[in-house]
Amino acid sequence: MKLLEERILRDGECRPGDVLKVDSFLNHQIDVNLLCEIGREFERLFHEAGVTKILTVEASGIGVACITAQFFGVPVVFAKKSKTSNIANDVYSAKVDSYTHGVTNTVVVSKQYLHPEDRVLIVDDFLAKGQALLGLSEIVRQAGAQIVGAGIVIEKAYQGGGDLLREQGVRVESLARIASLDPEKGITFM
Ligand code: 5GP
Repeated sequence: MKLLEERILRDGECRPGDVLKVDSFLNHQIDVNLLCEIGREFERLFHEAGVTKILTVEASGIGVACITAQFFGVPVVFAKKSKTSNIANDVYSAKVDSYTHGVTNTVVVSKQYLHPEDRVLIVDDFLAKGQALLGLSEIVRQAGAQIVGAGIVIEKAYQGGGDLLREQGVRVESLARIASLDPEKGITFM
């Protein structure tokens, strides 16, 4: 998505540890008009998929998931990071290693909000090594629901998460695919 790539080149900052900081439009301050174009594009890509629910993980996926959901006319469910490892019976749960924080979180979704008949579009801001997507996929599997695909705003393609998920048969659509991220040489796209 040209508009998004231009914005990343203009405002994205390369940080140590292979982190792209996009706080000025996605992860801290949010450019709602840009998110609106992103939501519209996900709807165009998954128009035929019969999506009944959008699933993301707190916190940074929620904004993009909500705006995207308006185009599909479906609810958003976000997986909550659980502070306790005592998992209740009424939730689906998965472990997710956090790329940016270096910790492992257990994420949970109430059984009330995902059902076997659901057709789930997973939406997230970033795809790096794929841990967040794998955790969310596991939750959908536990619910007996179907994943129709994953809509990702920024994929760092060289980190392998996208390939891993695609090899598992998940349709992953990323609006910007980064080929390299270098504080000196800058950002290149696939
Ligand atoms: P993964 O689980 O695919 O390794 O990483 C995806 C998650 O880590 C995303 O939900 C996102 O919050 C965070 N993340 C991974 N890489 C980056 C990055 O370069 N920049 C930012 N801002 N977040 C990232």
